[in-house]
Amino acid sequence: MNTSDSERLSSGFTNMGFDSTDDMESADVVVLNTCVVRQSAEDTATGLLGRIGKRMKGNTDRMIAVMGCMVGPHQSELKRRFPYVHVWARPQEFEPILELAGMRHGLDPEGCLSGAVPENPNVASFIPIVHGCDKFCTFCIIPYRRGRENSRSTFDIVHEAEMMVARGVKDITLLGQNVDSYGHDLRPRIDLADLMEQIHEINGLERIRFMTSHPNDMSIRIIEAIRDLPKVCEMINLPFQAGDDTILANMRRGYTSGQYLEKVAQIKEMILGVTLTTDLIVGFSGETETQFERSMVILRAVEFEKVHTSEYSYREGTFASRKMHDDVERAVKKARKVTVDEFQQYVQGKNNATLVGQNIEVLIEGRKRGRLHGRSRGDKLIYLNVPDGLGMPEHQAGETVNVEITDSSPWSLEAVLPQVQAPDGRTAVKKEKVPVV
Ligand code: SF4
Repeated sequence: MNTSDSERLSSGFTNMGFDSTDDMESADVVVLNTCVVRQSAEDTATGLLGRIGKRMKGNTDRMIAVMGCMVGPHQSELKRRFPYVHVWARPQEFEPILELAGMRHGLDPEGCLSGAVPENPNVASFIPIVHGCDKFCTFCIIPYRRGRENSRSTFDIVHEAEMMVARGVKDITLLGQNVDSYGHDLRPRIDLADLMEQIHEINGLERIRFMTSHPNDMSIRIIEAIRDLPKVCEMINLPFQAGDDTILANMRRGYTSGQYLEKVAQIKEMILGVTLTTDLIVGFSGETETQFERSMVILRAVEFEKVHTSEYSYREGTFASRKMHDDVERAVKKARKVTVDEFQQYVQGKNNATLVGQNIEVLIEGRKRGRLHGRSRGDKLIYLNVPDGLGMPEHQAGETVNVEITDSSPWSLEAVLPQVQAPDGRTAVKKEKVPVV
């Protein structure tokens, strides 16, 4: 979400006539985009802001702006601590940054932000569709900082998607803290399935994804849309956060482990070969070894393709920080995370190894350390090796190619590019039927 916000603001600055620079010392405007989902992230942001203040001391020409989740509805404390910041902009409300920059530099920001799509967006790009969250899980600061759920209009989102595709985007991820609740606050009512249907019509777009979902909002309609719309990738990030029902109730997640597993079973039954990923917190307030083991039971039962694991940490401002104790020892949290990570490494290694020798469809996203890389529909990171000496045409970001997987690790796959005829008629790899991976 923050990356997407930064790209949007950056595009607004470009539209106004600014250039970007990595050199903070020479910048006329410095914008710090903050994530404060964890206390440590907020501490990092405030530390950096302090250093920026020192480095900018005495330079009255330079404008400093702060945006993102650090900027809550009440900013008096922030303004007192950091008096040298010129603008505080709440998440997604960054017009004031452009307005002040425009005033200081004699540039008109009118119209520069609306539909601010990057000039050269990545082949795989993001579109925020719903901001904020109404769920109020006890450990989470998001609803307090990003506010209540606020869905963007379908017209705006589809228009933005069209502009992105016109600029070369092939893979769009629809974003929301709670993306599957999209549209419940719009009239007439619309949902994520309806939105994906409309985006699906855009010529030139190849893939649609979305994240992150809440199990209680993952409706049959959405599951059917994933199954029935060819461009929607067969993947869902469905956080379960804990496997024990008492812990889930204390987190105020609104489901039991049994209900979660029922949802997973329904998804697996309806979407063949679906990729499931999840989020998990270890060491939440009062979590015993037996309760943690119930999280492992879910991991073993589902065998997720990826697990984003966090050690629970006290987060000031949340319900848990006021009413519960952060009483699981740090070493115990770490050990639990290691247990999860080791299990996941085993699962991912095992699953990826089964793909060696198979042909997979990959959307090339760019180059890293001189090698092409891309992703499968199921979000597998794949590095592509082009056989030497065949004088084959260069592949580019944005091309979809069928590749043969030659090697695997728990985190990525290696592949060779097939179907490319060398000038002398030799072919790198033969073409085969491509499964959904
Ligand atoms: S659903 Fe997600 S964003 Fe919303 S409160 Fe819970 S953890 Fe936070």
